[in-house]
Amino acid sequence: MIDFKAHIHDVPDFPKKGIVFKDITPLLADAKTFAAAVDRLAEPFVGKGVQIVAGIESRGFLLATPVAYRLGAGVVPIRKKGKLPRAVKSASYALEYGTDSIEAHADAFSKGAKVLLIDDVLATGGTAAAAVQLIEAIGGALVGAAFLIELSFLDGRKKLSGRDVRSLVSY
Ligand code: AMP
Repeated sequence: MIDFKAHIHDVPDFPKKGIVFKDITPLLADAKTFAAAVDRLAEPFVGKGVQIVAGIESRGFLLATPVAYRLGAGVVPIRKKGKLPRAVKSASYALEYGTDSIEAHADAFSKGAKVLLIDDVLATGGTAAAAVQLIEAIGGALVGAAFLIELSFLDGRKKLSGRDVRSLVSY
């Protein structure tokens, strides 16, 4: 059994006071643990016809890309606003103060494409819920959402109710 938590470092008060940042860089840098994480993220979706894996900027990219390769799917970046060069669709989500938005190219995949969403951490679920909205606005059919880490005390899963939500470790 791979102990994923042993490779995730807690960084208190980053990026601001009161937040315990889950640093996954030691996990990514450990070949065996990284490979196991990619396999375990992909595993529930093998044979489900996933055509696109969408990753959320920026740590989501590091996981979505190998998962897409593992599933024989394409990879699509969901980016912070203003980064993509062509016509985009956006979705907003609430921050502690105000809102932010994420974007994907409006033609990132064809209508009806089966899409798996990947990110490193499911916290309050605001970002993932906005990403699901975005995927569906482009015409994708969400197959599920998978995260390395779920901060279950923040109840982010509630914002994704009715969806196939997976996580490898939970705090
Ligand atoms: P949320 O919208 O609250 O679910 O936050 C999810 C996004 O913020 C993900 O893209 C994570 O990378 C990042 N995030 C939130 N909380 C943490 C945390 N404690 N440690 C690392 N990343 C986090």
